[in-house]
Amino acid sequence: MAQSHAHAHKEHSGETLIEAARDALTNSGEQWTGMRQSVFTELARHERPASAYDIADNLSKARGKRVAPNSVYRILDLFVANNLALRVESSNAYLANTHPGCEHDCIFLVCDECGEATHIDDEEVSRTVRGLASARGFKPERPVLEIRGLCRACA
Ligand SMILES: [Zn+2]
Ligand SMILES: [Zn+2]
Ligand SMILES: [Zn+2]
Repeated sequence: MAQSHAHAHKEHSGETLIEAARDALTNSGEQWTGMRQSVFTELARHERPASAYDIADNLSKARGKRVAPNSVYRILDLFVANNLALRVESSNAYLANTHPGCEHDCIFLVCDECGEATHIDDEEVSRTVRGLASARGFKPERPVLEIRGLCRACA
């Protein structure tokens, strides 16, 4: 877990995001298969959190043959485990991680109206939340920090 902003934080988009995701996955000894690349590319196209069903649907249409949501699920889980994707728990959906080389306790602002999830990294908040847990003898593995409300456009 990164402890400060002193690290070389890099946000990616477009082609470089896909390259960064591939590097992060292969660096952890996993293969970057054609199917994994398709799922990641499809996920990265979504501006809002996407479910395994959304992605399976779109891939099925694009490939002209059915892609099972279950196989998409397994790939998304692998992506989350390797920091390529982020799970927005309160939406039960996924976003491509724009900083696959860099671990953070990502904070999400999730709009109840349009479903948009804005992503923020704040080491101070992360330290405070982890500290609250540690002070009670609880070992924090993965803080889930999500704020539900209305985005600027919907407010
Ligand atoms: Zn970072
Ligand atoms: Zn983040
Ligand atoms: Zn909204």
